[in-house]
Amino acid sequence: MRKKVELVILLLLLAGLLAVSKNLERYVSSGKVKKAEITVVIDAGHGDQDPGKIGVNDALEKDVNLQIAQKVKKLLKKKNIKVIMTREDDTSLAKDGGGNRKVQDMKARVELINKTKPDLAVSIHQNSYHEEGICGAQVFYYTHSTDGERAAGIMQKALLAVDQENHRQEKADDGYYLLRRTEVPTIIVECGFLSNREEAEKLVDEKYQKKIAKAVVQGIEEFVGSREK
Ligand SMILES: [Zn+2]
Repeated sequence: MRKKVELVILLLLLAGLLAVSKNLERYVSSGKVKKAEITVVIDAGHGDQDPGKIGVNDALEKDVNLQIAQKVKKLLKKKNIKVIMTREDDTSLAKDGGGNRKVQDMKARVELINKTKPDLAVSIHQNSYHEEGICGAQVFYYTHSTDGERAAGIMQKALLAVDQENHRQEKADDGYYLLRRTEVPTIIVECGFLSNREEAEKLVDEKYQKKIAKAVVQGIEEFVGSREK
């Protein structure tokens, strides 16, 4: 009789263990699936004949944008997040032929984002101002996008990891073509001011660029994670 009871208990234990491991398996694999499904477009602003802003140290915005964008891509890939880059080298997205190259370039970026439907599009830029004292990263979002606004808020906070003294706030904008015409949450990250001597020097520094990239990736992860809940 006791043997029988022991056997039943043993069987129950085994069944319980099996159920737990099955659930665990499901949980782990769903986690994997979810991660692989996340897609982010990283847009390095400007390129080719369009240098963007020119730094007080002669750094070209298009180069700084691409360097940071490449670092963001590398980090996202490590985290199993699918990355689509609008450009991988010093090029324009404008098609050859007539017309305004800048307009064509912007249209092509928007088309790429709308076609690939990422969870988030992050456009990397550097700022400039006529007063040299102005500095600090700032994130922009489309005025009429609540998801964009949330993403910008999360990103602005994530960028505090680069500079805790940065008191800039995310800002709404309804003029930027890229923000206006994209059909997915899109933010523009102005990583810093090339017109500020100190910040311009930092922005061309490899280590500083990595720090920014890490913060941007942190912001992306937090935004995507908050959407899944
Ligand atoms: Zn720019």
